[in-house]
Amino acid sequence: MRKHRIGIAFFYHESHSFSPMKTEIEQFRNEGYFIGDEIYDAYIGTKTEVGGFLDVLKQERDVEIVPLLCAAAIPSGLVSTEAYSIIEKQMLESIQQAGRLDGLLLALHGAMVVEDLFDPEEHLLGKIRELIGPSVPMATTLDMHANLSEKMIHYTPLHFGFKTYPHVDMYEQGVHASTALLKQLKEGVHYYASFEKLPMMPPSINMRTAEGPMHKMIEWAKQAEEEEEIYNVSVFGGFPYSDVPMVGASVLVVSLNPQKGKETAQKMASLFWSVREEFIMDLPGVKEGLDLAMSIEDDKPVVLADISDNPLSCGSGDTTDLLREMVKLNIPDTLFGGLYDPESIEACRKKGAGNKVFLSLGGKVSPEFGESVQVEAKVVALSDGVFHNSGPFNQHLRVDLKGAAHIRVGRMDILLIGRPMSANDPEMFRHIGLEPQAKRILALKAKNHFRAAFEPIVGRIIYVDAPGVASNRLTTFTYRYIPKPIWPLDDIEYEVELRGKEKWKH
Ligand SMILES: [Zn+2]
Repeated sequence: MRKHRIGIAFFYHESHSFSPMKTEIEQFRNEGYFIGDEIYDAYIGTKTEVGGFLDVLKQERDVEIVPLLCAAAIPSGLVSTEAYSIIEKQMLESIQQAGRLDGLLLALHGAMVVEDLFDPEEHLLGKIRELIGPSVPMATTLDMHANLSEKMIHYTPLHFGFKTYPHVDMYEQGVHASTALLKQLKEGVHYYASFEKLPMMPPSINMRTAEGPMHKMIEWAKQAEEEEEIYNVSVFGGFPYSDVPMVGASVLVVSLNPQKGKETAQKMASLFWSVREEFIMDLPGVKEGLDLAMSIEDDKPVVLADISDNPLSCGSGDTTDLLREMVKLNIPDTLFGGLYDPESIEACRKKGAGNKVFLSLGGKVSPEFGESVQVEAKVVALSDGVFHNSGPFNQHLRVDLKGAAHIRVGRMDILLIGRPMSANDPEMFRHIGLEPQAKRILALKAKNHFRAAFEPIVGRIIYVDAPGVASNRLTTFTYRYIPKPIWPLDDIEYEVELRGKEKWKH
């Protein structure tokens, strides 16, 4: 029996145009860079898109999996031209060397920006199409924060966006992409893509899917999927920190009937526009947030989320506004982390656990958002910074912080980490002996993903509006390339064209 040879690849970055940290090849190598068979060890059994691809394909007796290349880096500044070129070259070479491919599964993000490329995912798909030809089925998974452009659907109609935020359905979307690809390949199913781009770039703070406007959108998307001939509906919130012409929200409907697909996409776009104001949140500042946290009586910890410095939204993980105020207040039973500070970890390592050390904490990458905080600390514990996520977000995935130190400053515990990483999983703290559940206040460098693992163990969650590159206030950025006018920067009228029917006006 001739087997269907299906390639698997993963190229992932969310790029912040205003972050001072350029993303080099080293950042990809630190997070995840796997070639060929290494991909099995890294992803099999993980709740990731590639984990989903592998689980579906390995059940098919007539499929041969061809692992190509996986490269992912933590969200940060623009990807350097050099880093992108290295990865693209290796990706294309791996496809060439793979020989005949009958299908290709790609896990992409959709909000990558390269120094000299606004839409690298589109560029990459174009190059891949040139190599494999126009007829080989291809399917992608995309982040809910993808800044999707219409060009992407010219290469394949099969794109599957995450339907959860925190993104706990990466695996499921990997399964959906694989299943659709196999149907096209084996049963000759023909899919159509209908795409609507909206003139808006909502901030992500209120984009979680447990409640609020994105919850409504996803429920509507699921309802639409119940209809005949509608195969999949993706709702993309976009990533407003990418200063690119294709920034912002969009809707993509994969259908078996282009007319029905188009109508559904237009209806969804119209609904999306109607809930836009619900994405705007007014947040307390550092002092207000701390006052509120200290006023709450609860058995469970109160979380102060330092959202503007969330590494998964490209924060450097080393801003100090919240830290400085907490050190000053010296509140008992508090935990702050993880603060990106390899220099301080090195200083702790030199002194050794149990000893005192003078440290200049944080404020090194982004001093414009707050200078370093001078402290005398006790080194409690040191680690290599390696742990496995307990999940459900990125469950079982190995995380390497490139070193970690638990220090005590006054009555406060602080976790220092060797590379920027959101505090999305309690294992980040537990691996070094810190139990977040035992604290009264948790100050986390995080935004929304942490809720997946932390919500069961914490009480009230307070988002703090401190200065930082991932600030909720989009007016603080000087955009150059986004389309104008665009909401919420501009107050605009928008009308979705609905062919042959009444227009959806808002
Ligand atoms: Zn995302």
